[in-house]
Amino acid sequence: MTDSPVTISPTTTTDAAIAQPSDEHSLTAGPSGPILLQDHYLIQKMAQFNRERVPERVVHAKGGGAFGFFETTEDVSAFTKADLFQPGKRVDMLARFSTVAGERGSPDTWRDPRGFALKFYTEVGNYDMVGNNTPVFFVRDPSKFQDFIHSQKRRADSHTRDHNMQWDFWSLSPESAHQVTWLMGDRGIPSSWREMNGYSSHTYLWENAGGQKHWVKYHFKTDQGVGYLTQEDGDRLAGEDGDYHQRDLYDHIKSADAPSWTLHVQLMPFTDAADYRFNPFDLTKVWPHGDYPLVKVGRMVLDRNAENYFAQIEQAAFEPANMIPGIGPSPDKMLLGRLFSYPDTHRYRIGPNYLQLPVNRPHAAVNSYNRDGAMRYDNPGDPVYAPNSFGGPVADMRSELPSWQVEAGEIARTAYVAHADDDDFIQPGTMYREVLDGAQQARLVSNITGHLSKGVEGDVLTRALDYWRKVDGDLGARVAKGLNGG
Ligand code: NDP
Repeated sequence: MTDSPVTISPTTTTDAAIAQPSDEHSLTAGPSGPILLQDHYLIQKMAQFNRERVPERVVHAKGGGAFGFFETTEDVSAFTKADLFQPGKRVDMLARFSTVAGERGSPDTWRDPRGFALKFYTEVGNYDMVGNNTPVFFVRDPSKFQDFIHSQKRRADSHTRDHNMQWDFWSLSPESAHQVTWLMGDRGIPSSWREMNGYSSHTYLWENAGGQKHWVKYHFKTDQGVGYLTQEDGDRLAGEDGDYHQRDLYDHIKSADAPSWTLHVQLMPFTDAADYRFNPFDLTKVWPHGDYPLVKVGRMVLDRNAENYFAQIEQAAFEPANMIPGIGPSPDKMLLGRLFSYPDTHRYRIGPNYLQLPVNRPHAAVNSYNRDGAMRYDNPGDPVYAPNSFGGPVADMRSELPSWQVEAGEIARTAYVAHADDDDFIQPGTMYREVLDGAQQARLVSNITGHLSKGVEGDVLTRALDYWRKVDGDLGARVAKGLNGG
């Protein structure tokens, strides 16, 4: 539907553009039927309807997004040669925000981290960042990710979500303490997508034109100010308007109130990583601002709504493996796992040629030898192989992404190389004691006790209380007291 009435309507056709005589009546032998198989448009409508859904994302299923631009306002060329981060550069982009555990129709205001996925259509290919509105994560090894998500989704028997299952996993996984502290705090339910920060969370590697390298973390700080909802408001809105965040973003952009974020980075000199006090690639930890202060880079603005949600947002495919020269991965094991899992899920969910859809298609030229497959419409011609002597594309070794040297050891299943302060409870404890004020601490305690009081029992509850005592003795005591009726 459009906002203004349409006066002259086009004729309905099949998808093969053949005019149709009726939008309402199927073709029958006599008024009482039977329905005839030759009513091709009816058959097409029924068959197409049965195939309307692509599989929903296994995580981050409920979300929305918008288009806009990123512009580099500062000079960070001393740290990266990446095309989009050169002074004055401006590129088109797409952002998608989402909850993690909820299904496609679930309420926007459930307590959950939010996805903060970005696609930059740069002159040298797509650059994607699959961030969150939190700087850390629940686990640090991709082999635990599937189990973590299963514990947050639904039971096998009742098909309900289960707090006992959630706390069972968390309390058996001490590395989750930092993220769970963050989740139970105010930022666990943002007031809108506009009013939340985005973080790369992962560490990446930047390289400048001279080959000098820095480890880097990205912080997209909202220019609207950080806002949150209380548990009570989140619960109320989940009933009143399940699409509260989607509607907020759409309406603000529609009324020309374009939200923006300022990008800052933390930069760690390449050689600092080896003996930093904790492992800097551990996704459950932040780099304290005091050690690595924020450096401003530019700003992103979302000023254009999608015209077609399914085509442009549901079928949008973000993948952290899309990195451009000047930017590379780090030894963060979660990142390395995600480099595989994202494109893999897109091939399953949308199809092997998902990169040809307009929303995913790079604005830069594609010169690959990949070809054929379901639904491919822009197929490369001859020569179909490399090397060839017929003028086909030739790879350029100068486009290699930055990397690090690996000290090969015995093949094994181990934690990261240990650093002195690799402790799961130091940073959440610091957050509780030094970042949150009295009112924020009180809401954290209330949110934790509220969550624990919904079906968490026995050994799981005992372990959960121990978990909070390890984060902070006072916090643990307040949670225990709250559970016993205050
Ligand atoms: P700082 O005092 O420099 O930073 C504290 C940061 O905490 C703020 O900059 C803000 O991040 C964030 N913050 C403020 N209120 C909340 C809240 N209610 N919930 C979640 N985060 C909040 O100290 P450090 O850098 O030394 O970090 C101390 C602790 O702060 C860490 O252990 C971590 O738990 C938390 N933190 C640190 C971040 C970092 O990258 N260093 C980022 C976010 C949290 P922002 O400015 O991004 O809004």
